[in-house]
Amino acid sequence: MEHQNPTLALEETAVQDLVSRLRGTLLRPGDADYQQAARVYNGMIEKHPALIARCLDVADVIAAVNFAREHELMLAVRGGGHSGPGLGTCDDGLVIDLSGMKGIRIDPNTRTARVEGGCTWGEVDHATHPFGLVTPSGFISTTGVGGLTLGGGIGYLSRTFGLTIDNLLGVDMVLADGSFVTANAEEHADLFWAVRGGGGNFGVVTSFLYQLHPISTVYGGPMLWPIEQAEDLMKFWRDFILNAPEEINGWFAFITVPPAPPFPEQFHMQKMCAIVWCYSGALDKAEEIFKPIRAFSSPAVDFAGPIPWPVLQSLFDALYPPGLQWYWKADFFTDLNEKAIDLHAKYSAQLPTMHSTMHLYPINGAAHRANTNETAFSFRDANFAEVIVGVDPDPANNERMIQWARDYWMALHPYSAGGGYINMMMDEGTDNVKAAYRDNYSRLAQIKATYDPSNLFHVNQNIKPTR
Ligand SMILES: Cc1cc2nc3c(=O)[nH]c(=O)nc-3n(C[C@H](O)[C@H](O)[C@H](O)COP(=O)(O)OP(=O)(O)OC[C@H]3O[C@@H](n4cnc5c(N)ncnc54)[C@H](O)[C@@H]3O)c2cc1C
Repeated sequence: MEHQNPTLALEETAVQDLVSRLRGTLLRPGDADYQQAARVYNGMIEKHPALIARCLDVADVIAAVNFAREHELMLAVRGGGHSGPGLGTCDDGLVIDLSGMKGIRIDPNTRTARVEGGCTWGEVDHATHPFGLVTPSGFISTTGVGGLTLGGGIGYLSRTFGLTIDNLLGVDMVLADGSFVTANAEEHADLFWAVRGGGGNFGVVTSFLYQLHPISTVYGGPMLWPIEQAEDLMKFWRDFILNAPEEINGWFAFITVPPAPPFPEQFHMQKMCAIVWCYSGALDKAEEIFKPIRAFSSPAVDFAGPIPWPVLQSLFDALYPPGLQWYWKADFFTDLNEKAIDLHAKYSAQLPTMHSTMHLYPINGAAHRANTNETAFSFRDANFAEVIVGVDPDPANNERMIQWARDYWMALHPYSAGGGYINMMMDEGTDNVKAAYRDNYSRLAQIKATYDPSNLFHVNQNIKPTR
């Protein structure tokens, strides 16, 4: 069926009125930049919004929110566009595209960064690195600050400084009624609690205020071992990371070695185990710290060494460019018992494509300092966040890699803590969203009812407003 353009149903004068209110541009199907602007990171998602408002400032966001509400349009908010299920876009409605809002101001005295909603983590690193400062983010620099922060934010520094939300001091937001508020520990404290894990449910965050930490060069990078060592290595890593000093982060992965430098040719296209390290303590102690790791079993490939923070943060960007097909499933784990480890070994041997992978991120250490109900992000008692990812350039492989990811996840799920990380789920329905928030869901639903009673912001891992 031919795609309908619902803007035809909108009065042209109303659309022109919106255009006149924007400093940024309003794109419609047929406009030169529309197709590019409509694309998101996951090549599996193809949506056709009626209007894309490329906002440049808070006033633009207010105008776009008011327009969507008054015209009863579906509304999506796009930060970095990295959502797996494509929750930064929608069919037929209005997309508020924040990618033009790139302002970043570092205050070296208070060690804080004010970051506008359209920035990526690479842009934040660019701004903070000259000051020798960082805020905890993720593992890829092209991800947007918006979605990653609002879902929690798991990354290289989770064990050291907590999740990204544990370093969030406040947000500026446009709410569903078009009003502008600041939420922090003192103002709109309920809203501030909710946005620390509750996703884009409560409004459009136009800027984030982050605490920064003095880190410039860390000791990190990947080490690889043969896949045959999967069980032994996972057990070693589990015991090591549960007891390691908080300056040490290292996530476990099953990978297929890319057929390109810097990987040695003999390992190209081999399935292998990897641990990607980031030690942010004193560099002169690093070799000593890594001795037991190398002593456990000499890695087949050892790239760990001193590395500037922005380089580590962008190490895998080229391997995962935009436009690949993505399908992922997530769970949190408190323990990794023998049975779970056996299952990991089984499914890792079946990685369906070169880009497909399984990651286990440690979220103990500093990420445990908050209680399960201190922020909306609930799984503070879990030690590991698992994500199983089917990725490939070719849609012809989708069925095979999706089946692998589902089977793998289903096999491990009985050993999980019962819910997954909302930022690494597909569009899986209310039950899985509830499972992600556990006891926090009902409070989130009440706060949603206060700030967005008509669920204007529902293109997200949706929390239904309930009094
Ligand atoms: C390659 C890749 C690597 C990743 N690595 C990590 C990682 O290391 N750690 C981690 O924790 N997660 C990671 N993620 C998951 C990531 O956190 C989520 O995909 C996140 O939603 C992406 O945010 P975004 O702004 O880029 O996405 P978008 O698709 O733009 O937005 C995702 C959701 O957030 C909402 N949103 C975004 N910005 C705003 C805003 N300013 N105000 C209100 N709502 C907003 C959107 O409406 C949407 O619902 C990764 C994802 C990918 C694809």
